[in-house]
This record gives sequence, C-alpha cells and structure tokens, in this order.
Amino acid sequence: MEQKINIKNIHHWGIGYNKKPIIISGPCSAETEEQVMETAHDLSKMGVKIYRAGIWKPRTRPNSFEGVGSTGLKWLKTVRQETGMLTSTEVANVKHVYEALKAGIDIIWIGARSSANPFAIQEIAEALKGVDIPVFVKNPINPDVELWIGALERLHQAGITKLGAIHRGFSSFDHSIYRNIPQWQIPIDLKRRIPSIPIICDPSHIGGNRDLLQSISQKAMDLDFDGLMIESHRNPDEAWSDAKQQITPHSLSILLNKLVMRQPKPNGVSLDTLEDLRHKIDKYDLELMELMKKRMEKAQAIGRYKKENNMTILQTGRWEEILDKSIKNGAKHELSAQFITTVFKAIHQESINKQNVILNE
Ligand code: PEP
Ligand code: MN
Repeated sequence: MEQKINIKNIHHWGIGYNKKPIIISGPCSAETEEQVMETAHDLSKMGVKIYRAGIWKPRTRPNSFEGVGSTGLKWLKTVRQETGMLTSTEVANVKHVYEALKAGIDIIWIGARSSANPFAIQEIAEALKGVDIPVFVKNPINPDVELWIGALERLHQAGITKLGAIHRGFSSFDHSIYRNIPQWQIPIDLKRRIPSIPIICDPSHIGGNRDLLQSISQKAMDLDFDGLMIESHRNPDEAWSDAKQQITPHSLSILLNKLVMRQPKPNGVSLDTLEDLRHKIDKYDLELMELMKKRMEKAQAIGRYKKENNMTILQTGRWEEILDKSIKNGAKHELSAQFITTVFKAIHQESINKQNVILNE
C-alpha cells in the first residue's frame, strides 16, 4: 500500500540552539587537521554552534581536489570533542552515509547535484532509515521546486523527521554577477508549500565571491530565512576549493554583526497599517489577474485569426516591439528592465501556449 505522507507536516524541529539566525560555518573542504581545528576553534569562540566541512567534494571537472575522504571524519570528531560544536558534512551516496554515521556526524546535508537525482536521493533515504538524524536538502542545481520537494518527500517517507532546506542558488548558462542565481521566488514557494520547514541560505555558493556575501545574507534575513551557511577558512585565498567565496572567521563575525534583523511581526507594533497594506496588495493582485485574463482573451482571438489565415504563432518582430515598448514604459514607472523582461516573457509564453491550443484544436 502506498504510504500517505503529508509534506506540509514537516515541523520546525529547532537546529541545536534557538537563536536566529542559525549559523553553520566552516571550510568548503576539510584539507588538513590543523586547518580544520584552527578554523573550528575560531568559529567556536565567536559562538558558532554548527560546524561544516566537505569531506567528499563533488567537483565539476576531474583532477581537481575531491576531498580528503574518510580521514577527515576523524578531524570532525575532534572538533566535536574539543569545541562542543555540532558537526555537519555533505553525503552523496550510501557509503558516505554509513561512514558519516559511524563517525558520529550530527547533521548531514545533501548537495545540489544529488538533489537533482531522485535515484541518489532514494538510496540515501533508504540508507538513513531508522536513524532520525537532521538532514538538510540543498536545492537542486536546476530551478525546479518540485524536484526539491520530491527529495524532501523521499527522506520524509524514510522516516526522517528533522528535515531542513538549504537555498544555494541555481546554475545558469547566462553570465551573471552570481555564481548561482538566487531566484528567491523558488525558496519562497518552498516555504509556502511546506510552511514550517527551516530554510537556511547559503550565500557562499550563491555569490561565488566574498564581496556578495553581506548583501545576500541580508536579503535572506529580510525574507525571514532561519539561518545562514557560510564557508569560512583560516586562510581563504589558499583554500583547496572555492577560495574566492570563503572568508576568515573574523570577517564572518563582522558580517554577522552588520546584519539587520527585522521581525516578521514586531512586538508591540500595531499591525493595522500592515493589514491595510496587505489588503490593498490583495486587491491589486486581483485586478492584475482580471487584466491578465482580458489580455489572454485577446491573444486567443488573435490565435483564431492566425489559424484562419494559416499564420505562424510567433511573429518575432511583434514580440520584440512589445518587449521594447514595455521596458521603456517600465522605466517611466521605476520598474527595472530585468523585472519587465521576466514578467513579459511569462505573459508572452502563456499567450503562445493558449494560441498553440487553438491552432492545433
Ligand atoms: C558545498 O556546500 O561545499 C557544496 C558543494 O555545495 P553545493 O552542493 O551547493 O554545490
Ligand atoms: Mn564549497
């Protein structure tokens, strides 16, 4: 019989300590015992409670440093003993799971490349059966919230109750200031679908560059994320992987001190104005919907005209003209070209889909 699960029931289980933001930090990769220990002691002195270090590293190209492997697990055990910090690492297959569990790793995470692979997730989930260890699932590298939820469901089905999500951005062929484009609407959608899941942001892998860490971290806090996973290293420029995005524990403490923490519902502040503003937003959303419906009806009428006259759906000139005009109009209303392009591409795609139905009816 198919097991009925309700992913919405994933609860907020707390992550070792209650102070928000929860900070997970440590090197991209464990390199040597000294590097692991020195970084850990510095972070522990700052009050960081969860240590991270990659033991097995999924690298894009072969012949780069692929992690120290199981030897590093012993170092993490020492971190646990000497600092009291919880330890965490990435697992990507059944062997990693067994070794990490045997070494007493407290929290594991599943990397972005594995999250995109349901076979890998299923095997990891089965290897974890009966061990209710906290598991964080990074978003898949492709912007697919269903795949992310699917991975969480597989783990939930295997009896893992302490689940969390890590937002680390999405790969893109287009050049961008980010190493992985944040696409904030995707973690927001995940939060809507699984309201009480803890979500951690990983600004290191989103930014790919230490200069971007502060602004990405602030944005995550403003979106009410539960915490941050930030890579730190005693000597970032010399790191064996992800050197450009790592920072020293000292820089991390500066970053954290600069964060402005806002509350979703500030204590003692009247929510009347907030409710009023939300009410207006809901009203405008409805109006947008009505307008969109009218626009689609006209697109469908054009679809019928194209069918009668045996014309193609896509008239490139016309689409370029719409986009161009809209970007110019958008600028007059202080709407960025990027925003207008995204919105109009989506509207245009929906019109094409609707016309396609008509043409092939
Ligand atoms: C990492 O955390 O070091 C890592 C490899 O991350 P991701 O899976 O997000 O690429
Ligand atoms: Mn890394």
